[in-house]
Amino acid sequence: WSKLVGNVQDHIAGLNFGYKGELRDYSITYRNALASLTGTPHEVSLRDKQGKTSTVTAKRIVVAVGGRPRALSCPGAELAISSDDVFQLSNAPGNTLIIGGGYIALETAGFLAGLGFKVTLMVRSILLRGFDRECVVLIEKDLVRRGVTILPHCTPAKIEGAASSSSSAAAAASATSGRKSVTWTDEDGKEATADFDTVFCAIGRDADTSSLGLADAGVTTNRSGKIVCKEEQSNVPHVFAIGDVVAGKPELTPVAIQAGRSLARRLFAGSTVGFDYRCVATTVFTPLEYGTIGLSEEAAEEQLGAENVDAFLSKYKPLEWTLNYYRHEESAFAKVIVDLRDDRVVGIHYLGPNAGEVTQGFAAAMRMGLTFTALRDTVGIHPTVAEELTSLEVSRSSGAPIEKGSC
Ligand code: NDP
Repeated sequence: WSKLVGNVQDHIAGLNFGYKGELRDYSITYRNALASLTGTPHEVSLRDKQGKTSTVTAKRIVVAVGGRPRALSCPGAELAISSDDVFQLSNAPGNTLIIGGGYIALETAGFLAGLGFKVTLMVRSILLRGFDRECVVLIEKDLVRRGVTILPHCTPAKIEGAASSSSSAAAAASATSGRKSVTWTDEDGKEATADFDTVFCAIGRDADTSSLGLADAGVTTNRSGKIVCKEEQSNVPHVFAIGDVVAGKPELTPVAIQAGRSLARRLFAGSTVGFDYRCVATTVFTPLEYGTIGLSEEAAEEQLGAENVDAFLSKYKPLEWTLNYYRHEESAFAKVIVDLRDDRVVGIHYLGPNAGEVTQGFAAAMRMGLTFTALRDTVGIHPTVAEELTSLEVSRSSGAPIEKGSC
């Protein structure tokens, strides 16, 4: 564990060193300070680590403060760690309770179970809300097969530690060491209690804007503190925002990067093209990786009408798993959702090896208006897992079996 943590921290330090170097290369002044907008237009106050304050002015201000992990609201919430802490633990996490059912919860459950830790996943509603349900069921079965215990429809009622404590430093210390007794409630209101070495909370992230002085500067935010923008511009013309701090946009790092590039081109390079948020591909890095672009089957049926939609499916064995002792019983899964009225592909879903790599290029094709005929006319690369997406034949409406042999 300590070697893993050391390597991760070294990698992050290397990345940060690289970013600082790039800033220097472009003659960008870097100030390590806490910023807030003052009431004076174009003015930002900066407070450094020593508490010294100064002000800077700028023609334009871009807010890109991202989010912070949301904390639980039950007693003992401070005894839970977040994804910010996990790779800083000096001791291995041991028997771990993960609370949440989103990307972070499932990815963490997958890698901790893979490292041999006992993992329990507590989910208040469903796993991966908004994703294609058929795919999510396959991920859930795979996690269970790997030894993850899932507690559905349960919410934590309290967490008690060896030293439930008054000082925040002591609380932080006890979050990373000592047994925690967790009591939770199921959907019938029944309570249960169990002990864990680590409680890991991944219930979403909140915009970190409360101390940014946005209200003083007249910047409109929504109820969760995110900045309301039109094309990355807030209601105050010289204040812009990119990334997770923007209301109503996908919370994904590459989305923030692309939004920033697009904004820079419009502000400084004469572009008039806004950032197109359609067909953003994303991957959930669970042990059975899941890459997805566009609509889930449920969303397609709801938005386009069930009678206008069909899904083409295949469950097949990737060649690289056929001879793999650990995975030879596992299958990949591919689903392409088509709008039958114009043959347009409105959703691509793939579960299997290298899902991020597989789905990336298909996102470009979908952005260009990919049709199912064009996809099937594409020559596959044999014997890859992605090839299957070019040769899907069995439709949901046919009711034919979707299981195939090795690719
Ligand atoms: P998500 O928004 O993905 O999921 C939050 C989960 O927590 C949901 O299952 C939600 O359940 C549950 N939840 C919310 N509030 C509570 C509560 N009070 N008690 C119990 N459960 C609760 O958040 P994550 O923290 O997983 O990830 C944060 C962001 O980071 C995501 O938006 C994601 O885009 C990004 N990310 C992307 C990755 C990738 O691209 N591979 C990897 C990791 C993170 P319910 O459905 O009931 O609301």
